[in-house]
Amino acid sequence: MALSLSPPLSSSSSSSSSSTSCSSVNHQTLPRKLHWIPAIFSRSGFCSRGLQIRASNAGNRRAISLHAEGTSLRSSVDDKVTAPDKESSVPYTRSKEARDSSLTIIVVGASGDLARNKIFPALFALFYDDQLPQNFTAFGYARSPMTDEELRTTISKTLTCRVDKSENCNEKMSQFLKRCFYQSGQYSSEEHFSELDDRIREKEGGKTSNRLYYLAVPPTQFVDVVRCASRRSSSENGWTRMIVEKPFGRDSESSSKLTLDLKQHLTEDQIFRIDHHLGEELFESLLVLRFSNLVFEPLWSRNYIRNVQLIFSQDFGTEGRGRYFDNYGIIRDVMQNHLLQLLALFAMEPPVTLDAEDIRNEKVKVLRSIKPVSLDDVVTGQYKGYTGGNMSVPGYTDDPAVSKHSLTPTFAAAILSINNPRWDGVPFMMVAGKALHSSRAEIRVQFRHVPGNLYNRKPGANLDDATNELVIRVQPDETVYLKINNKVPGLGMRLDCSDLNLLSKSRYPGEVPDAYERLLLDAMRGERRLFIRSDELDAAWSVFTPLLNELEEKKIAPELYPYGSEGPVGVHYLGAKYNIRCEDSGY
Ligand code: NDP
Repeated sequence: MALSLSPPLSSSSSSSSSSTSCSSVNHQTLPRKLHWIPAIFSRSGFCSRGLQIRASNAGNRRAISLHAEGTSLRSSVDDKVTAPDKESSVPYTRSKEARDSSLTIIVVGASGDLARNKIFPALFALFYDDQLPQNFTAFGYARSPMTDEELRTTISKTLTCRVDKSENCNEKMSQFLKRCFYQSGQYSSEEHFSELDDRIREKEGGKTSNRLYYLAVPPTQFVDVVRCASRRSSSENGWTRMIVEKPFGRDSESSSKLTLDLKQHLTEDQIFRIDHHLGEELFESLLVLRFSNLVFEPLWSRNYIRNVQLIFSQDFGTEGRGRYFDNYGIIRDVMQNHLLQLLALFAMEPPVTLDAEDIRNEKVKVLRSIKPVSLDDVVTGQYKGYTGGNMSVPGYTDDPAVSKHSLTPTFAAAILSINNPRWDGVPFMMVAGKALHSSRAEIRVQFRHVPGNLYNRKPGANLDDATNELVIRVQPDETVYLKINNKVPGLGMRLDCSDLNLLSKSRYPGEVPDAYERLLLDAMRGERRLFIRSDELDAAWSVFTPLLNELEEKKIAPELYPYGSEGPVGVHYLGAKYNIRCEDSGY
């Protein structure tokens, strides 16, 4: 890989790198949605801010519950999980399984937003790229009455073709739509699932039957759907897998209950718990960066790393999702799953192999080493509306589906500590928020000071502040860069900070597949690396459940922050407490 000392990225792509010194970020250059952000935010020097041929259910699964009623919740380490075989490295369409069997994808909740805007478009993108097998059929299932034609008309509005080869788009689209069907039924009716089964069998034409269910319905419906589908419309001679969309419970207790309920009807290796952010490039890139470059792994510990920040911000509010969000809040919606998964991949020990179970074993270990988050190490916030000039933006509680007195946080910052020899004493700061000034998803790694720094007294930089920083960013522009100190060319000795740009969008201009495409393809192949195992889920909930209980029991009021700002001022103080310099990160 060619390394280049790049000029600073554009302000929209790199808010931090537009400064002339690592230590003096000009907040004026940060992308702003609104320009009236209180000056207080810029005052502080600290942050404000294989293919599995058969699942274990192969054979007659109909009406069979593999775990008897009352089975206690077991760690999935105990469950037999079949690893994908070596064929996973060849395109799925060319695998023996794809050639010899039929594949039916059943989207349950097909009348909803997720199905329309994400799942069917992702399936079409895979079809367009010839990633789906010859004998592929898609079924939509929901209560709303709809004909096959009506489903096709609805989903055709959200299908798009790859920009780089759109010549045969219409033809491909009509081929895809011909393979899409709709079945209306109740989620708790075994009879209706039997009707679905009859229709699927017609399309399977007697071939080995593989069925992938995507549960795009509210979590209240999960258990009914899983029960009916596993009893009445699961495969008799191939595999049946079920993708379950997050949220997986609200806390340790409800999550364990959900797992237990699902395992009354499915084995662990049939359950694919999806957090779609895990399908983003960042997750795979992080592993490649860590484990395929000799230069990083030796630095990856408390000896060299001062702190790590995991940031996920959105420049829009809960618009339209207030009812769902108010029941969860930002800690459950983003931190407990997406950011914690990132942290686990970042901080885990090297896995024995890249096999899903080896990676997931390491993630579980590190998750179990994280101390439960303390209320003293958390700042919560909620965005408020703003009306002024010709601009008006709604506050969180202006949503008619949200109570005026809601204490649900739309922003949170938290310090996590990992109690193991590698990370002892290194603060991991998570920041997640809605209605902030920019949309961003990144990891920032700040390294320690240079000991006995020879250049500390030279003009142009304070190297105590300008430590090296590695930024791994997925949004707005995928990039990985390392901030280094260098000499400004000329007769004098002036130091400056530049970005050593390791990877950027310009180097790989091709279109990046949507996260759902990757995850759907993985589920078809039985590749579980990016799906969450039940013991991982338990460990993740253990980190946040005590905090969530305390926030709710004590009715802790979130700090209000203006829509489009950088979040609550309290984050400055939290960062200062742990000596985290994150003015570069814009919080
Ligand atoms: P919707 O609210 O649009 O629900 C999907 C379908 O489920 C609806 O069309 C409806 O179908 C059925 N449904 C809705 N509410 C109920 C209910 N109370 N009882 C029974 N059936 C109901 O959700 P989305 O499509 O937006 O999302 C689906 C799931 O995925 C949700 O659990 C959500 O939390 C999760 N999710 C969604 C994301 C997104 O981007 N939208 C992102 C991440 C997760 P019908 O009435 O026809 O049966």
